Amino acid sequence: MPNNEPSYDFIREIVANDLKTGKHKFIRTRFPPEPNGYLHIGHAKSICLNFGITSQFNGQCNLRFDDTNPSKEEVEYVESIKEDVRWLGFDWGDREYYASDYFDRLYEFAINLIKKGKAYVCSLSAEKIREYRGTLTEPGKDSPYRERSVEENLDLFLRMKAGEFQDGEHVLRAKIDMASSNINMRDPTLYRIKHVPHHRTGNKWCIYPMYDFTHCLSDAIETITHSICTLEFENNRPLYDWVLDTLETECHPQQIEFARLNLNYTVLSKRRLIQLVEEGHVTGWDDPRMPTISGIRRRGYTPESIRNFCDRIGVAKRDSIVDMELLEFSIREDLNRSAHRFMAVLDPLKVVIVNYPEGQVEELEAINNPEDESMGKRMVPFSREIFIERDDFREDPPKKFFRLYPGGEVRLRYAYYITCREVIRDKNTGEIVELRCTYDPETRGGWSKDKRKVKGTIHWVSKAHSVPAQVRLYDRLFTVPNPLDKKDGKDFKDYLNSTSLEVLTHCRVEPDLKKLRPGSNCQFERQGYFCVDMKDSEADLPVFNRTVTLRDSWAKIEKKAKK
Ligand code: ATP
Ligand code: MG
Repeated sequence: MPNNEPSYDFIREIVANDLKTGKHKFIRTRFPPEPNGYLHIGHAKSICLNFGITSQFNGQCNLRFDDTNPSKEEVEYVESIKEDVRWLGFDWGDREYYASDYFDRLYEFAINLIKKGKAYVCSLSAEKIREYRGTLTEPGKDSPYRERSVEENLDLFLRMKAGEFQDGEHVLRAKIDMASSNINMRDPTLYRIKHVPHHRTGNKWCIYPMYDFTHCLSDAIETITHSICTLEFENNRPLYDWVLDTLETECHPQQIEFARLNLNYTVLSKRRLIQLVEEGHVTGWDDPRMPTISGIRRRGYTPESIRNFCDRIGVAKRDSIVDMELLEFSIREDLNRSAHRFMAVLDPLKVVIVNYPEGQVEELEAINNPEDESMGKRMVPFSREIFIERDDFREDPPKKFFRLYPGGEVRLRYAYYITCREVIRDKNTGEIVELRCTYDPETRGGWSKDKRKVKGTIHWVSKAHSVPAQVRLYDRLFTVPNPLDKKDGKDFKDYLNSTSLEVLTHCRVEPDLKKLRPGSNCQFERQGYFCVDMKDSEADLPVFNRTVTLRDSWAKIEKKAKK
């Protein structure tokens, strides 16, 4: 096969072909969130797909709120969804639509269906409707109201709209086939009575259209060409087509299903994420442990890394579970290139360099990003008293411990070689409170003139010049790869990881870190990638969230696979 055609996923192939054959001259898709929660990383896949296709093929993607279910909190959700889509780097122009804007037209469509003898008002109770519907193995039974005349149906539907009936007294149903092997086609409900005000239409309506009726018609109204949705809607496709065919709409979009994103060690469903928020298992929708876009953003992920992740996982027709490590790989890859390096001591241990002149301060040169020379260098203050990581010292070092121990020599990054001479303990607790070390003035910059080698290099900050900071270390939200596994009758919340957040309050960081703006990314050498928390960080006490550790096992796996 000639290699000049770009490789497309199966949806892009359909789109490219429709342009080639002239079926469509202009491609239009939509991203249709229901404003009943914050978006999660699964939605990001759908956003990247819908907006990605139209930017690739010079089309347009609409943002449509699927707000047919009236409820109170929707305004907050609408705003968060817009913020998230924008943050991901996509633009819907002036095409911000609401299914509720179409209520009048949907109502007209319903009248039309009734007039065509293709819809009827059914007065069975919800329970009876369920009973009459049949099962996967047994056909359903016709409702006794199925043969109501067009006139009677019109009259009842009008009165439903006028508010003459209570919730549940009647519904409008499509008249299709109660014996269909597809349960969705067994006279599905199109409208229900709900005496609940809507956040956009107020008290205008007390009947609300169902998803299956609303979605296809909204697509048709917006002249969508390809209506891309997740696999669970595959069995709704015949109904999607039935409504549009029966109403003979001018535009009949093609529904195409793809596999939703599943990610291990988390849950991707608004219904479950709401529980975590409302029951206080997390601090909010934007808790950095949440798989929501707002949580991931606050954690320090960049839009590029999410888009790259979505590219990498691709689009398939079969469900699968993506490894969280792939998401982590995407952000590491991005930040490795772009993040400014700093030194930060998370668990400080004081070190006094006894042969360093008291009162002397040196500015030592440090590299801002070894991957990118253009990011330049900075000067880091060094003095007689410094902090190192408590964990970088062992009194009884195990074999192959190359950091600091009594009598041992180690390199202070960008500074000097030091040797530990004495360990000072708290008289009462016995805790190590200070190390006395000597430095070798001939090793300035961290290099010895006599080519003497040290095995370990550790980071440090000057005691007097460093600033205090709070650091939050995050681990996975759940302890098992699949929290939805109902083994032993467990609920997904039984698998919550009780140590998913560790707050370190006594950290000391390079003075320059105080200048970083909330949301900025950086690397703490040897500790991982961090970002300044957008909500809790203060000028006097910066707060850093660890986005991801430096461990890069995915890259190793990829390398192995290539070999
Ligand atoms: P949830 O199950 O989390 O409540 P939803 O499907 O009800 O999600 P919607 O607001 O209806 O949420 O979704 C908007 C769009 O995002 C739909 O087209 C839906 O198919 C898509 N989507 C939702 N979850 C995922 C996912 N995990 N992977 C890919 N696309 C998704
Ligand atoms: Mg939904």
